[in-house]
Amino acid sequence: MIIPAAQHVHTLLASYPDFPQPGILFRDLNPVFADAVAFRAIIDDLSERYRGQFDAVAGIEARGFLLAAGIGYAAQCAVLAVRKGGKLPGTVLTEEYDLEYGSARLELEVGQLPAGSRVLIVDDVLATGGTVAATARLIERAGYLTIGVGVVLELAELDGRSRIGDAPVHTIVSV
Ligand code: AMP
Repeated sequence: MIIPAAQHVHTLLASYPDFPQPGILFRDLNPVFADAVAFRAIIDDLSERYRGQFDAVAGIEARGFLLAAGIGYAAQCAVLAVRKGGKLPGTVLTEEYDLEYGSARLELEVGQLPAGSRVLIVDDVLATGGTVAATARLIERAGYLTIGVGVVLELAELDGRSRIGDAPVHTIVSV
């Protein structure tokens, strides 16, 4: 019997109150990544949702890298690493943004793909949407098109979708 990706996530998701600071309920998807069948199910789910629609997948540091690598392999497409500030060499684009806790900076190297390339953005958790929105701005400034967003878990009460703009957002589980 094939277990749907959402069921794997519901079964394996771990939640930690007051981490990394008081008031935050931290959602840990590492147990999903650590289960071979579950990991494959979430990669297949995200790849299938946007099949044929993207030339590249952009993973956001760090857990988004795991998803982007799997999707890139499954879909045989290019993989972009959207990194935290100060880690990329050469000419980089930078976006500052606010997090559910604190603020952050994301960067993307320029000139990795042809102009107009269709990019799927992936990450583990969609919270306030600031991280994905900043990534979408980087993709646009680099000359590419964001065709969609794929995340494993959406924290619906934070309404991150409202910050993302027009790109479709696919989430495997919404809590
Ligand atoms: P946001 O920009 O608020 O949508 O935050 C999304 C990023 O922060 C993702 O890369 C998540 O990994 C991480 N994140 C934010 N809130 C949480 C949470 N409650 N549990 C786990 N990760 C979170």
